[in-house]
Amino acid sequence: MITETSRRDPFSLRGRTALVTGLANADSIAYGCASAMHDAGAELLLSYGHPKADKHVQPLAAALGGAEALLCDVQHEDQVAALFERVAARWGRLDVLVHSMAFAPKDDLHGRVVDSSRDGFALAMDISCHSFLRLARYAEPLMKEGGTLITLSYYGAEKVVDHYNLMGPVKAALESAVRYLAAELGPQGIRVHAISPGPIPTRAASGIAHFDRLLKSAAERAPLRRLAGIDDVGHTAVFLAADAGRALTGSTLYVDAGLNVRA
Ligand code: NAD
Repeated sequence: MITETSRRDPFSLRGRTALVTGLANADSIAYGCASAMHDAGAELLLSYGHPKADKHVQPLAAALGGAEALLCDVQHEDQVAALFERVAARWGRLDVLVHSMAFAPKDDLHGRVVDSSRDGFALAMDISCHSFLRLARYAEPLMKEGGTLITLSYYGAEKVVDHYNLMGPVKAALESAVRYLAAELGPQGIRVHAISPGPIPTRAASGIAHFDRLLKSAAERAPLRRLAGIDDVGHTAVFLAADAGRALTGSTLYVDAGLNVRA
């Protein structure tokens, strides 16, 4: 049946409000998402995880319709609370949340998983996985008419990717959390997804050993013979958040030029 909702432009975010976290600079996947959502008509609020990013993020925010950009380190509960207080004060509701952040201590990231430290593992889990649950908890009461929660994962969650190490189990937990949140929040019309991009040269990715080799091999082996970019990830995020994605939830979507289908 063609309903009134499906008659509207199904790919538009006009009139929607979106909180995009995890901006570091113009290479960030979060920036790709924010930019695509802005182009699709969404009103944006942005956040960055480190004070040093302020000088890179503010000009980007200005170019995205003068969006507000606030510091929010998810290890500081007061900063998370302040971010959502700002969302509530500004809009009184929220339609889209993008969680685009990860961290692991260098020694743990570069060592074997079996050797990972208790503290390093817990910190990686806290910032890269549990923070998604915390942000979702703050977003839930603001998504009164439903909404979309999106996080970023990687193929190393599913298969062993050389040098991804500790982040593999952490992303596996994140993808599982997406399925549980989808089941818990679905009855309220809140949809939950992970987007799993192929390798993209960003600040976070530069912490993975031999990342240049991963990029080269991905571009050569992907069926489309190219890498996915932050704009490709952004357009997928728009599709998931817009009416076009209204019957989808709980999935992990690969945006990797098809790389994941190769053995
Ligand atoms: P990026 O460096 O641009 O972004 C990572 C962000 O994480 C930064 O903005 C950083 O400030 C933030 N962060 C770290 N600790 C934080 C904290 N305590 N509180 C708040 N924010 C914090 O790199 P990116 O590649 O755009 O990473 C974004 C997401 O995409 C990550 O989850 C990453 O694992 C995922 N991802 C990246 C790739 C890739 O190849 N680049 C591939 C698949 C998935």
